[in-house]
Amino acid sequence: MSVRRLRCDTPKGDTVDMRVGVIGAGGIGSDHLRRLRTTLSGVEVVAIADPDPVRAAAAVRGLGATIEASGEALIANERVDAVVVTSPGFTHADLVSACLAIGKPVFCEKPLAITAHDAWRVVQAEVATGRRLVQVGFMRRYDASYQALKSVLDAGTIGQALVIHAAHRNPDVPKWWTTELTIKDSSVHDSDIVRFLTGEEIIASTVLRPRTSSRLADVQDPLIIVFETSSGILVDVELSVNIAYGYDIRAEVVGETGTAALGDGGLVTLKHAAVRSTDLPANWRQRFTLAYDRELQDWIDATSAGEATGPSSWDGFVATTVAEASHASYRDGTRTEVVLPDRPVIYR
Ligand code: NAP
Repeated sequence: MSVRRLRCDTPKGDTVDMRVGVIGAGGIGSDHLRRLRTTLSGVEVVAIADPDPVRAAAAVRGLGATIEASGEALIANERVDAVVVTSPGFTHADLVSACLAIGKPVFCEKPLAITAHDAWRVVQAEVATGRRLVQVGFMRRYDASYQALKSVLDAGTIGQALVIHAAHRNPDVPKWWTTELTIKDSSVHDSDIVRFLTGEEIIASTVLRPRTSSRLADVQDPLIIVFETSSGILVDVELSVNIAYGYDIRAEVVGETGTAALGDGGLVTLKHAAVRSTDLPANWRQRFTLAYDRELQDWIDATSAGEATGPSSWDGFVATTVAEASHASYRDGTRTEVVLPDRPVIYR
């Protein structure tokens, strides 16, 4: 099925190319809903599914969208041209597979799946359709600072990359958080952006356990993941999920003749009372607002034009495979190799 081309006015004053349904109206679901209804163009939200009736009712308020009984019902709704999946990670593979079974385009938040087996199932289902119907929410690729860093590397300004030092720090997580979630839900961003920056695959992962924070019982926090890329670049990523002071994403590439790092400046540097200070984002919403806007607009535009072009099921599969290797390394205390099948033609 190709996306129906629709032309009608929206409250935003633009024309609608795509009517979407959103599955999951929690943290990022409500954030994406806001941008879909107020910021992005060519799109209209026509259906919502969330098991919490209060959350679902709040999500459709002022939208004229329907509340569907389940994600599956939303996917089957013929008014829905394309689907946005923002429910928890363990639901993703089945929901994306249900979209693929009827040829419906889908934007799926990361991770694509919890296990490499399930992610591969999605890849095979998409390959069977013969075209790119899935985009995965690796929004860092749309972030201006990561893109500038990649431009420096691609230009060869600092020679070949040798080492990357990175940090992924969250101020806090819910009480039910686990170390497995740090690896399988959070670190997929880090492995994906390494692949994006270097153009290389990750061939092995080793997880180290520093002294753990007393602020989060039963979770290894922080942890260090060391990725090895196919040419031998070593990448150390510090993942902290409970760092308290703010949301801090860092990356510094050490090259042969220089280093290049993501900018560390806030919007304003304040000098006051003998102190120089600058603002930090409080959370992922603030840090990546524009990247989320750009990734979803790109998905809307490309899907309306016929085929998604952003981060693919293959990228989602690779990230989940690397996370599985990292989790094995965390569990067993060993360096774990990442073994990938051949990349299917539609992703080359
Ligand atoms: P959240 O706040 O828990 O929201 C998830 C929502 O989905 C909740 O309202 C939940 O309801 C609902 N839900 C659960 N099962 C469902 C189902 N089968 N069908 C429909 N709705 C369902 O979680 P979140 O923080 O928004 O995270 C959601 C996903 O987005 C995760 O995979 C996460 O990794 C990803 N995420 C990505 C980024 C990014 O930077 N790209 C940032 C944040 C989150 P109940 O609470 O009643 O279960």
